[in-house]
Amino acid sequence: MQAVFDGHNDVLLRLWQSEKKGGDAVAEFTNGTEKGHIDLPRARAGGLAGGLCAIYVPSGDLVLPQPEADGSYVTPLSAPLERAPSLDIALEMAAIALRLERAGSWRLCRSMADIDNAMADDEFAAVLHMEGCEAIGADLAALEVFHAAGLRSLGPVWSRHNIFGHGVPFAFPMSPDTGPGLTDAGRELVRECNRLGILIDLSHITEQGFWDVAKLSDQPLVASHSNPHALVPVARNLTDRQLDAIRDSKGLVGLNFAVTMLRADGRENADTPLSDMVRHIDYLVDKLGIDGVAIGSDFDGALIPREIGTAGGLQNLVAALQGAGYGGAELAKLCRENWFRVLRSAWHEDGED
Ligand SMILES: [Zn+2]
Repeated sequence: MQAVFDGHNDVLLRLWQSEKKGGDAVAEFTNGTEKGHIDLPRARAGGLAGGLCAIYVPSGDLVLPQPEADGSYVTPLSAPLERAPSLDIALEMAAIALRLERAGSWRLCRSMADIDNAMADDEFAAVLHMEGCEAIGADLAALEVFHAAGLRSLGPVWSRHNIFGHGVPFAFPMSPDTGPGLTDAGRELVRECNRLGILIDLSHITEQGFWDVAKLSDQPLVASHSNPHALVPVARNLTDRQLDAIRDSKGLVGLNFAVTMLRADGRENADTPLSDMVRHIDYLVDKLGIDGVAIGSDFDGALIPREIGTAGGLQNLVAALQGAGYGGAELAKLCRENWFRVLRSAWHEDGED
């Protein structure tokens, strides 16, 4: 079995939603559930050793439309969110992450040593991520506090606008060049992430925002859960120019399992073969090299191929990659080592500033 460290999941969102309906997040994660994609038993079964777990304030108004006859669709951008209720929700999700840590259900990892130790102890290695920073004000005071609570990665925007920048809509086919990029507050956020050692994730940001971060940030460029636009032209996927910049920065792209981002027809259809996932990995490896490609499942945040099903089915992807000719050392890079390399760099643990 190849241990997989995954660049993006929404298990905290699912557990938070469950608590809103009276559920027990710690019990649901620890003992397992029929719901969603990730819990401890299924993570163990599938070799999911850990990953970036998103604090994500959901947009209530997001509805994926029925595609037109030619398969195209455009989802209006979700409305901007107010800060105060966003902060409440972000705190509630961070609290779930901290309660899971206190219960011994997962290790909340703040350094590579934490991840190494968690994996050696066969504990789930969770890294706290924030997907869209509506909970943080322009003074960045909340960033400081979330960092102290364990936040080690963030995407300035989700697919909506906020005070830091602009996100891309869910649309097919569409270029990711859908509007402006970072605001002045967004630039300050990037500088502060560089200073604190917080990874900056470029999934969901406009192409202009991507270039704005590329110009400013001293970290490798990372898109935690996006796929190549040349294969599936959704606005959320990355153009070849973006892939070139990621390669030049020694960054990475995590393969998103969302079927709408894997299928050539862009459809929301779980009958999506593993060969589509391999096709994306092959393309990314061709563009980025074997050191620039990783996993960013979007477990608990998207409809994924039936042949994966849940975290318990992760090794089906590993087997498909093996079948496509990837050897042990390559699989180790794709499954976890590339993530560890960029985390070390973003967290100032690589001996460089
Ligand atoms: Zn996402």
